[in-house]
Amino acid sequence: MTSPLNFPTLPKRRALDLPIRPTRAEISASALLHNLEQLKHWVLPTPILAVVKANAYGHGAIDVARTLEAGGIWGLAVALVEEGVELRRAGIKAKIIVMGGAYEGAWPQIVEHDLTPTLFRKEHLQSCGQLLRSLGRQAEIHVKVDTGMGRNGVALAELEAFAVELKAWPELHMEGLCTHLACAEQVGAALTLLQLQRFEKAFRYLEQLGINPAWRHTANTAATLSLPEARDGRIFNLVRPGGALYGLFPKGWPHTLPLRRVLSWKTGITHLKWLSPGDSVSYDATWKAERKTHVATLPVGYADGFGREYSNKGEVLLDGKRVKIIGRVAMDFCLVDVTDVEAVSVGDEVVLLGEQGAECLDADGLAELSNSLHYEVLCSIGARVPRLLVE
Ligand SMILES: *Cc1c(COP(=O)(O)O)cnc(C)c1O
Repeated sequence: MTSPLNFPTLPKRRALDLPIRPTRAEISASALLHNLEQLKHWVLPTPILAVVKANAYGHGAIDVARTLEAGGIWGLAVALVEEGVELRRAGIKAKIIVMGGAYEGAWPQIVEHDLTPTLFRKEHLQSCGQLLRSLGRQAEIHVKVDTGMGRNGVALAELEAFAVELKAWPELHMEGLCTHLACAEQVGAALTLLQLQRFEKAFRYLEQLGINPAWRHTANTAATLSLPEARDGRIFNLVRPGGALYGLFPKGWPHTLPLRRVLSWKTGITHLKWLSPGDSVSYDATWKAERKTHVATLPVGYADGFGREYSNKGEVLLDGKRVKIIGRVAMDFCLVDVTDVEAVSVGDEVVLLGEQGAECLDADGLAELSNSLHYEVLCSIGARVPRLLVE
């Protein structure tokens, strides 16, 4: 496909037919599979429940799920029923665990699309059980206990009443028990060990009542990387990482595994002009030229998740060099000072996140500018940025 503006040839787009705008996120299938292999090896023989919620952390849930499914996983985890439905509609056959979301009214969709919900309210048991009973069907469920996160999950004090209710619904086959750790990123946190102990107690208690969930899981990325107790094979026999699959370590952690970045965010120059000293750029004229300045327009803005906080602070890569964002980042565009780069032309590729030449920009760097988290930077990449699976 030739572009009217002489952009570097784009990989074939899936969702869009025309390379009208060069802004895109490239998703490396080989990096994703590499990370999966690294994790599999790390936790052997524990299988992996791969977290692909929030559009696979902004990477594009369908392509990521297809790639992971081909790479071999125990199952996929999403946060919402609608995320699970999206994957089923795209033909994903793997087991899909819905970790949270709002279930009331969603049971028919859960059953129709063969999603495995995580239940933690007596009302969940009743309404799900009733629907299954009326259909003459059974379904697998996971149960979440709250061991210290204080969010979703059966409170331990209510576990007995929950278990009694569960036994009243033979339609519900409890195949999994899980909990979520609040402080796994803080190495040695007392709460983490307390949560594991509470979980074991809950598991043993259910066992006494004749409830024997085959799969028990708690480990997110941080616990998967640092806490062998959370995949001991005795209590815990499944891990549930998200970030590490995408090459993300907990903030500030050493990179103990050679994980690779999966997403590279790129655009191209769509306009160039020379400014004179004293000229200003963009809204509120927050930047003024002090010298004769070559300014490039990039077609990416805060509507794409390229934050307004990057105004006058952020950097992008052009010709393997860092160049500065000048003036306010707007909804659809931002500007960069390219005076020090030779022979710049419209159509030149610009990297917002990822590598170019010897230089590299990562999501941690962008997160610092906006006082947020690498996860948030990636999740915020806008819906109108096409995700292109490469390799
Ligand atoms: C998001 C999430 C995970 C994965 O967390 P990472 O830190 O990205 O590995 C695991 N479990 C639950 C319940 C989650 O919401």
